[in-house]
Amino acid sequence: MSTEKTSGPNDSLNFLEEIVEDDLRTGRVEHILTRFPPEPNGYLHIGHAKSIVVNFGLAQKYGGKTNLRFDDTNPSTEEQEYVDGILNDIRWLGYNPANVFFASDYFDQIYEWAKHLVGEGKAYVDFSTPEEIAVLKGTPTEPGKDSPYRNTSPEENLDLLERMRTGEFPDGHCVLRAKVDMTSPNMLLRDPIMYRIKHAHHHRTGDKWCIYPMYDWAHGQSDSIEGITHSICTLEFAPHRALYDWFIEQLSIYPSHQYEFSRFNLTYTVMSKRKLLQLVREGHVNGWDDPRMPTLAGMRRRGFLPESLREFATRIGVTKRENLIELSLLEFHIREGLNKIALRRFAVLDPLKVVIENYPEGQMEWLETENNPEDPETGKRALPFTRELFIEQDDFMENPPPKYFRLFPGGMVRLKSAFIIRCDRVEKDADGKPNTVYCSYVPESRSGQDTSGLKVQGVIHWLSAEHAKQAEVRLYDRLFQLENPGVEDDFKKSLNPTSLQVISHAMVEPALMEVTSGEKFQFTRLGYFCVDPDSTPGNPVFNRTVTLKDAWAKAQKK
Ligand code: ATP
Ligand code: MG
Repeated sequence: MSTEKTSGPNDSLNFLEEIVEDDLRTGRVEHILTRFPPEPNGYLHIGHAKSIVVNFGLAQKYGGKTNLRFDDTNPSTEEQEYVDGILNDIRWLGYNPANVFFASDYFDQIYEWAKHLVGEGKAYVDFSTPEEIAVLKGTPTEPGKDSPYRNTSPEENLDLLERMRTGEFPDGHCVLRAKVDMTSPNMLLRDPIMYRIKHAHHHRTGDKWCIYPMYDWAHGQSDSIEGITHSICTLEFAPHRALYDWFIEQLSIYPSHQYEFSRFNLTYTVMSKRKLLQLVREGHVNGWDDPRMPTLAGMRRRGFLPESLREFATRIGVTKRENLIELSLLEFHIREGLNKIALRRFAVLDPLKVVIENYPEGQMEWLETENNPEDPETGKRALPFTRELFIEQDDFMENPPPKYFRLFPGGMVRLKSAFIIRCDRVEKDADGKPNTVYCSYVPESRSGQDTSGLKVQGVIHWLSAEHAKQAEVRLYDRLFQLENPGVEDDFKKSLNPTSLQVISHAMVEPALMEVTSGEKFQFTRLGYFCVDPDSTPGNPVFNRTVTLKDAWAKAQKK
């Protein structure tokens, strides 16, 4: 498996690497074991990719291992479809978990530990309503008050807990709470809930359980069972650390430790599974793998390379500061990766007919052009050149502004890997749109053998009209118009209405008829494109992965 090493022995370490090196040096741990703990209630997004790269990357760097653990403690939102999707996405990203575990594997052990705490008088069953519990909890500036159930005897609590488990009580009738400290300045320590009653079918344990552990009463315990040395999570869990440590200490189990780093955010998108699920359910996108989604499934379909995502996630670093990373930085890494591997092809998205009047009718010649100048080993291919061609509407202007270097009446341009042509006249539709441009070519100007002595600035791509094939091309733009849509009351208000533009009659070179789903190309001068799984034989569909330059930033500046 390939991974990026951004820091050699002399480079500075991020704070997690410093902690790990310290722990190895002092002997606190012998081997690093990290875990990635997704809740299977949606598909992974690029924020998860950051966490995956941090967890797997750290273990790899120090010769350790990483478990995948599904945090499946909430039966009502979890599904097998997501479990499969998550595993698939992690492998696609380039990682293989040392083990695949489920928090639900530990339900029996966790229940035994709950009984242990109850027996020691450190947990109790509370029949107060949620409102009563909230009132007694106090506020961050006022201490809480004891629940009337706080001093029930351990024996009675053991009986009540067992009756909770066996299904005697309806949902919400009572909860099991840890007896920690109702006056702690940390609200999470004010007798946190350990179990709630939920008569719900679980995707793995079926109907065995009707009580399910809360996050805080499952996560550290699962870490400890697996012997996780460094349990890495995002900053919002920092206040939970005291409780994480408290449970582990009371149980005298393997002392896993929790460390927090800042959540990764990206401009022009949202990154919460709840919001992404809304976009899917309400049809704002075409599923979790819509190429506009920040999900790994969407990015894969869009044509992103996993190595570019890993590189990006590594480069943005690990810190404790809140951050909002520019989408353009991600796109930069995507271009970098694709530039190396994508074969170049000619495609014309908005065709304009060109007739070369001094090129003999019926004549055809093959002109060679490079498959990828970045990789000479990919060689060359031959393109048919004929009297009638297509160029982009965009590459012609009847009344061009100064410094327009493409085609205009009386002007000259080079057809890439072919000849220089001069525009003699233009024919237009009734509505004034150019439909045919009549040109003459310079026979001595053939690329590589040019003896014409002419100098032209512009180089444009083209296709032989007779040989070009039709294809569907899908152009994607950012999903939201606002930089940080997630902070708005109604994040859907800023959805970009033109985030998808479908071109059903683009023209492409014949070689693009025989492509397979997922194949990646650079359409010369247009961008990087990836074959969509909607393609059928003879009817390819191409997704634009990313433009060649950051056109959007430029347009915004105008
Ligand atoms: P969401 O709010 O999108 O549902 P989550 O944190 O609830 O995210 P989990 O499935 O619980 O999703 O997350 C699995 C792991 O991924 C956790 O360790 C979590 O901290 C981490 N993670 C999730 N989102 C990000 C992010 N934006 N940046 C870094 N790590 C993240
Ligand atoms: Mg979560």
